[in-house]
Amino acid sequence: MSAVVRDFFIDFQRCIGCQACAAACSECHTHRGLPMVHVDLVAPGVSLQTAPMVCMHCADPTCASVCPADAIKVDEHGIVHSSLKPRCISCGNCELACPFGVPIIKMEIQQMQKCDMCFDRTSAGKKPMCATVCPTGALFYGTREEIAQQRPASKPINRWRFGKQRIATRVHVMVPHDVDEMAVELPAFDEGGGPAALATALAAGARDGRAPEEAGPEAEFL
Ligand code: SF4
Ligand code: SF4
Repeated sequence: MSAVVRDFFIDFQRCIGCQACAAACSECHTHRGLPMVHVDLVAPGVSLQTAPMVCMHCADPTCASVCPADAIKVDEHGIVHSSLKPRCISCGNCELACPFGVPIIKMEIQQMQKCDMCFDRTSAGKKPMCATVCPTGALFYGTREEIAQQRPASKPINRWRFGKQRIATRVHVMVPHDVDEMAVELPAFDEGGGPAALATALAAGARDGRAPEEAGPEAEFL
């Protein structure tokens, strides 16, 4: 009998900015109090809408390709792991190169750390911490069948375009049925400051086709 395949889904429209995901993540002993999930304001000063960001576990991870020390490894499940401590030289290449703004250089330990989809938990059949505590289901870990049943007005996609660069990710985002790719134009990315601009694009892309019955309490702020 084949094992149940579970995936990670982000549904940006459901985020209420409670930071429960970041608080739960920071309790993991492997990264000593620092959350590996970020909760960004989509448009600071304009909207209270927030968007969570975890490592997207890219199929061809830019962070690993720019690492001069070969410190970032991908396992057979497609999980892109934090840097290997003996190899990482904390040069910051991965931090600069990641299109999603995920890696964090911890200078006090001279190592890059990032979300590894709670590999210690998921490899034992448990959900990642953030998805366990998220009260709205903005961060969801489960099967394709479960997400399709629970969110009929949207669908998961994992294809992105940053300017001319196309990226496929292991983590999926929930979008309207007529969206097949998340596009982030580079001028917007440059002007808005990286991850915040990305969050704006994500929220806009996910917002348009959302059914009223799926709208959470944050909808009035959009
Ligand atoms: S726990 Fe869920 S709702 Fe709360 S900030 Fe994180 S993603 Fe948003
Ligand atoms: S999202 Fe960033 S840190 Fe995660 S695998 Fe892709 S390039 Fe690497």
